[in-house]
Amino acid sequence: MPTSTPSTDPIIIRMHERDNVAIVANDGGLPLGARLPDGLVLIDRVPQGHKVALVDLKAAAPVLRYGIPIGYALKDIPAGSWVHERLLEMPSACGLDNLPIATVKPPTMAPLEGYTFEGFRNTDGSVGTRNILAITQTVQCVAGVTDFAVQRIKSELLPRFPNVDDVVALEHGYGCGVAIDAPDAIIPIRTLRNISLNPNFGGEVMVVSLGCEKLQPERLLPPGSIPLIDVRSGTSLNTETPLDVVCLQDDAHVGFMSMVDSIMRQAEQHLQRLNARRRETVSASELVVGVQCGGSDAFSGVTANPAVGYCTDLLVRAGASVMFSETTEVRDGIDQLTSRATTPEVAQAMIREMAWYDAYLQRGGADRSANTTPGNKKGGLSNIVEKAMGSIVKSGTAPIANVLSPGEKLKAKGLTYAATPASDFICGTLQLAGGMNLHVFTTGRGTPYGLAAVPVIKVATRSDLARRWHDLMDINAGTIATGEKTIENVGWELFEMMLEVASGRKKTWAEHWKLHNALVLFNPAPIT
Ligand code: CA
Repeated sequence: MPTSTPSTDPIIIRMHERDNVAIVANDGGLPLGARLPDGLVLIDRVPQGHKVALVDLKAAAPVLRYGIPIGYALKDIPAGSWVHERLLEMPSACGLDNLPIATVKPPTMAPLEGYTFEGFRNTDGSVGTRNILAITQTVQCVAGVTDFAVQRIKSELLPRFPNVDDVVALEHGYGCGVAIDAPDAIIPIRTLRNISLNPNFGGEVMVVSLGCEKLQPERLLPPGSIPLIDVRSGTSLNTETPLDVVCLQDDAHVGFMSMVDSIMRQAEQHLQRLNARRRETVSASELVVGVQCGGSDAFSGVTANPAVGYCTDLLVRAGASVMFSETTEVRDGIDQLTSRATTPEVAQAMIREMAWYDAYLQRGGADRSANTTPGNKKGGLSNIVEKAMGSIVKSGTAPIANVLSPGEKLKAKGLTYAATPASDFICGTLQLAGGMNLHVFTTGRGTPYGLAAVPVIKVATRSDLARRWHDLMDINAGTIATGEKTIENVGWELFEMMLEVASGRKKTWAEHWKLHNALVLFNPAPIT
């Protein structure tokens, strides 16, 4: 029987106690006349994912979401109205001068103790969640040969080493035909270096080189770049093991099979050492989690990202490391980020990264206005400020303790801003270089994203996506929109799943199906 009333009770989601607007969660939105749980009656139809005024808003009054102004009312907006982008004046672009510096007194966060996982402890003190042999490549030229060898390693050698999870070729497009002495070339080079040292590779660095390329093995991994620390005493061992390189142009190689045999022979030695390792119980503080979003929708900033933010706080309380990134999607909230910095130095480092990225975009003739799409607005996101707030919320509420430039390796625990583009593959690649051993990815439109080097836990923003992609999505945060679960419930569910996945007791769907996206190095320097 056709009816004008929705099939479920009206559900609205308010993100912060200061907010004077909330989001309608019901499928199909809510009709004029619908009565909200607190008794407010809608005086407009409000589409799903869009905002409703909770109080009378005077002209020029700030419209608050996530506790901050996402715009200013262009005229009086009575309570119960649909607050869409045409009623809002967008806040002006946030400059990089006169920002609040380390002004927020961090909330008291009780330590979370007693949480552990089963991980592989490395000689540099880091901990892996997987035990993988990675084969580093200095240049794209060797990719085909390395891939041929890896297929044979997997079929002929790997079955003899049951404690090794996988063999992964670190294929990329860099290494030659590039302006390798340009200042920004440091970014792709250190990215590749630090990925080779990712905790999931157990310190067993092995390189395949062509011979004539610009990125020579010693330039990629100079002596001493593979740190060895006595795990018990924390002191440096200073053992200079020579870099293990298979060079395809070496005179000793006669024919293709000689190159393949060389790679297999070297790989076997590394496999033997990796196979001797065992998981041991370690503190949850050894987790290094990279968070990002992709294929976002109106619910990303309402369900999945806030749940990730809650989990970020849990991880920080447990002493772990969390990296959040995606410069273009947090740029409009720079004042929030600098105010949350633990020290003025951290705030200045964030400003430096934003200024660098502003200049990078300007060089290419782009700016912030390129971000919001018609689809974003249709889905209820009025402007880039509102979109940015929905992205930043992944970082939770902890103080920001550290900043990484693109491709750098993480040096400290706690919450880190790792400056990366928002591009899923480039962000994931740079977080791998940062030393992540677990990845969390939220999506609303849906993407089958995965990485070969670390488990990727995918969080769906809507129950509809979680239902249709039931064998691709690991967690459904859409239950927050329907009121079945709270942000806290899903945050804890994610935290507990992380410990299971990190321990190897549970595989993510991307691991199950072996869905891997390519490594994509961020190279802002010229190509020659
Ligand atoms: Ca992304």
